[in-house]
Amino acid sequence: MTVTEAIQKMDAYEEAIYALNHACSVLYTDGATAAPKESWKGRGKTLGYLSGQMYKLTVTEENEEVFRTILEHRDECDEKIARRAELNKETYDDMHRVPLDEYVAYEELLNEADAVWHEAKLKSDYAMFAPYLEKMIAWQKKIAKLKDPEKPVYDVLLDMYEKGVGTAQLDQFFATLREELLPVIAKVAAARQPDTAFLKKLYPVEGQKKLSERVMEMEGIPFDRVTLGETEHPFTSGVNKWDERITTHYHEDDVMSSLFSVIHEGGHALYDIGSDDDLQFTCLAGGVSMGVHESQSRFYENLICRSLPFCKALLPVMREIFPEQMKGVDADMMYAAINASSPSLIRTEADELTYPIHVMIRYEIEKKIFADEVTVDELPALWNRLYKEYLGVDVPDDRHGILQDSHWSGGSFGYFPSYALGSAYGVQMLEKMEKDIDVWGAAENGDLRPVTAWLHERIHRFGSLKKPQEVLMNAMGEPLDAKKYTAYLKNKYAKIYPGITEA
Ligand code: ZN
Repeated sequence: MTVTEAIQKMDAYEEAIYALNHACSVLYTDGATAAPKESWKGRGKTLGYLSGQMYKLTVTEENEEVFRTILEHRDECDEKIARRAELNKETYDDMHRVPLDEYVAYEELLNEADAVWHEAKLKSDYAMFAPYLEKMIAWQKKIAKLKDPEKPVYDVLLDMYEKGVGTAQLDQFFATLREELLPVIAKVAAARQPDTAFLKKLYPVEGQKKLSERVMEMEGIPFDRVTLGETEHPFTSGVNKWDERITTHYHEDDVMSSLFSVIHEGGHALYDIGSDDDLQFTCLAGGVSMGVHESQSRFYENLICRSLPFCKALLPVMREIFPEQMKGVDADMMYAAINASSPSLIRTEADELTYPIHVMIRYEIEKKIFADEVTVDELPALWNRLYKEYLGVDVPDDRHGILQDSHWSGGSFGYFPSYALGSAYGVQMLEKMEKDIDVWGAAENGDLRPVTAWLHERIHRFGSLKKPQEVLMNAMGEPLDAKKYTAYLKNKYAKIYPGITEA
């Protein structure tokens, strides 16, 4: 096979994979938004069939030769072609270790596990979900061993979400967080809390929808390429740079919950739709890793939108939509209220300071699961013990404990650390961005386009063309430094809670 032939074959292969991914993505979004509850039974069949097709298209002897031929001649190829062959080869290697029937059976298991988890969470019935969790963990262990028998299972899994970042680095990262943040969290919890009552008044959904639209506008999200839907759990799902779906969940007694979900998912969307045109319909479109993805969503959510300058931009918009609820509120009050911190039960609702500890707890649990140090039956007790130990909170039931997140029901083990890494990456990106542009002027104007343009230039446009570590160096200018993240949090919270530095 010549290189030219190999490239033509890779083009045809990716065209077919794109079409299948497109179909799966729309089915998934439909399942989470418009489809009736029982529809998963039929959707599982279709998704199982489509993933079988994906497997058959990928695991062929010819493909092995196609990707190998290109990689052997990578010096003669365009950088995009070479990188595509590299990523396609990784997918091929992962898939071809598993027989077709097992591969399809696992996809069907995931679909069923997700439906069971929804119900188990609603009923706070861990026992109902446990057998599925058991099967998924067994599968992950088996696949990880096939992939790399030398490496600890959890390291193999972590590598799937943030390449090159394993337990050695994460142990250190979380140790710094634990050391630096736990004392601050305890002091803040004991300090006088800012007034947050005005955020818990009744905020009708209709008004909140208008507010969502306004903040999407401020963030610079194009409505002709990104739509907003409603789901139980907010998410982002992208097909190509012209079709991105984000979702939120409105709580009438908690206006900020949806607002920050919209901003967060909007950050994911901007990353996805930002990759260059010539990467579309190939495996290079969209974000390069979960850590980099979370760095973008959490950048807008926390670093920009939970800042005082952005509060100054948000306040008039909120006064216009909710004049009664916002009576007597100024920007300083809003800033203090949206950054109020106290140890809590639910990760997705946690404040910026306690958030990484929620992630650390999941990291410690996953590490134990894959080192065979805890059984599935023992997980709720371990979960509750760690919440008490680190955050001092009592978990009342599994719904507010181990059943709260959707990740495990989707077979995503090793994903959680991306959230904390992403937050830390963002702090170092901001430091560099502040040297180049007037970040806080943009935030105060409520026009974040300069911020997006900076991120686009260094991160978004590359899609998956550059490796995660290259992209990060491009945007941070230096390697990850956990102390910069903890210093940022400590400074921010010392200003919001001036009492905590005195004692
Ligand atoms: Zn996210």
